[in-house]
Amino acid sequence: MKYFSLQNKEHIVSFEDAVVAGLAPDKGLYFPEQVPAFDKNFLDNISEKSEVEIGYAAIKPFVGEEIPDDVLRKIIADTLSFPFPVAPVHDNIYSLELWHGPTLAFKDVGARFMAGCLGYFRRNDTRPVTVLVATSGDTGGAVANGFYDVPGVKVVILYPSGKVSTLQEKQLTTLGKNITALEIAGTFDDCQRMVKTAFLDAELQAHSLLTSANSINVARWLPQMFYYLLAYKQLQKEVVFSVPSGNFGNICAGMMAAAMGLPVKHFVASTNVNDTVPRFMENGQYAPNQAKPTLSNAMDVADPSNFVRILELFTNSLPALKEKLTAYSFDDQATVATMEAVWNEHQYMLDPHGAVGYLGLQKYLAGATDTTGVFLETAHPIKFADAAPSSLQAEIVNPERVQHLYSLEKQSVQLPNDYAALKDWLMKQ
Ligand SMILES: *Cc1c(COP(=O)(O)O)cnc(C)c1O
Repeated sequence: MKYFSLQNKEHIVSFEDAVVAGLAPDKGLYFPEQVPAFDKNFLDNISEKSEVEIGYAAIKPFVGEEIPDDVLRKIIADTLSFPFPVAPVHDNIYSLELWHGPTLAFKDVGARFMAGCLGYFRRNDTRPVTVLVATSGDTGGAVANGFYDVPGVKVVILYPSGKVSTLQEKQLTTLGKNITALEIAGTFDDCQRMVKTAFLDAELQAHSLLTSANSINVARWLPQMFYYLLAYKQLQKEVVFSVPSGNFGNICAGMMAAAMGLPVKHFVASTNVNDTVPRFMENGQYAPNQAKPTLSNAMDVADPSNFVRILELFTNSLPALKEKLTAYSFDDQATVATMEAVWNEHQYMLDPHGAVGYLGLQKYLAGATDTTGVFLETAHPIKFADAAPSSLQAEIVNPERVQHLYSLEKQSVQLPNDYAALKDWLMKQ
């Protein structure tokens, strides 16, 4: 498969080049030249297929011959080494739980798959590549964990001091080896600005090979198709998917799987008050505002980078898109009320992102009981426990597999909110 830049369809690269570069030189996102089709026989017999076979069927056309089959299967097996259960919540409503991975949020899948690909592509290169990434919480943990101990790859994570949860900070700062956490005396936006400046700095680029692991990378975006196939395997029927959306990478992967032939009734993009896409669906005007902080803060995105990929899938036709996608926005008050109601009435604990997804599904189905609905629960509630109403705090389970983190010592390099300090530090590595 070849990929073109959405800014310039003449700029065409291999899968490897798209993964290593992340973004095209013209700043366009990479998009596959073709939308492959699933074999009908495969979909009909999906209940008999293993997770690895399902992942392989979805991703192989996008990777082509650039990674040998045995290596690709190993990468997929490592990526899918935890369960993706579809849990019944009540009536016709199900939760696709994407938080059973090592860092308790769905970004584990994309980060692990990308780490496997990058590790393979760099196998014969003696010059280490540095993955530089800014995080508001979830991305950093997933990237750190996914790239931990990958030979030839160093990871440098910038996070805003005092602005990530205790669990998130432990996930970022306690691994060691090839992972370094830079604790910046600033906000997430400051961290992101410093990272973007670094990518444009020719002197720094000449000193070390830098790459990004953010969600626009095709190797982080495409493996998210697996979730929708794994849900189909479990339910074996056409459902409505509601996806809590920020940068729209996850839902865009689901829509790619549907374009390839996976039976899906409809997609609901559920956002918090950062409602650029719901407004666009309503009036056709793409008009991002300033991002507003919310309880579902992994979705506080005003200008979702992957939305251009969704438009491309529908050849920029809004009427065609509306047949497959509905978008709704919900505020924090509705989010908290839903977390409480779903716990009190159904004893199912939502995190704020999953609650937004639940709200979207509920609104779209509007009580219709003849359609099965699945919302994606993108994080374990413990990751956002600070955002939960006090009535629920004591009910949130702290999973066994992260207990050890609390006793590990944080190791971070503290830097001022100043690009020169970051550059100076990177030049010494
Ligand atoms: C990143 C994230 C999202 C948003 O996903 P996108 O692919 O950016 O739309 C939703 N929920 C959680 C918990 C996240 O970490």
